[in-house]
Amino acid sequence: MPEYTHCPVCLGDIESSYRNEDVSIICPRCGEFEMSRTLASSDVGLYGERWILSGAIRNAYERNGRVSLDSQNILTLLKTARPPSGPIDSIYLLLEHIHARMESPSDAVPFKKELDYPLVYAKNQADFEFYISKAHKLGLIEPFKKQDGPPDIAGYVQQVVCWRLTIEGWAKILELSSHKAKLDQHSLPCGSTPIW
Ligand SMILES: [Zn+2]
Repeated sequence: MPEYTHCPVCLGDIESSYRNEDVSIICPRCGEFEMSRTLASSDVGLYGERWILSGAIRNAYERNGRVSLDSQNILTLLKTARPPSGPIDSIYLLLEHIHARMESPSDAVPFKKELDYPLVYAKNQADFEFYISKAHKLGLIEPFKKQDGPPDIAGYVQQVVCWRLTIEGWAKILELSSHKAKLDQHSLPCGSTPIW
């Protein structure tokens, strides 16, 4: 049986293998997920906007690991996806991803803009770069250069630009988490958790 070479969701290059009745997909944009063979062989774009699906799968993967999708629950994923309502929300989601990846307050995280834009449900790399530059201008994040690998034979060290929260960024994270805690108290029945 041929392997899938392109992501059924974002159409980019992937690694894939078969796991029982499902296709196991490693997509550098959408993350890792399983998909039923029926769904993977269909036109997934008919179920909804590809950038929303890609963002929902990637965000689910970053938070809870792989999702397993079939032609039924892909609709639930789309219904429960919470794409940002505008650029400000996208910037806040960017802050949350930086926060989740930082191992300490002085740490900084790299992004591969051509692959990481689904993190904030951006439609493309240009939109993702726009959110990063605006978050920087707002004083919420700052660039920090990190060494990228060992020095080469001539002793030259490649550097990669990473991003970390400023104190204003940390204050915004505190504000967002207390706002979310209040919303959860009011919207979720005791003991219930979202599907993704
Ligand atoms: Zn993909």
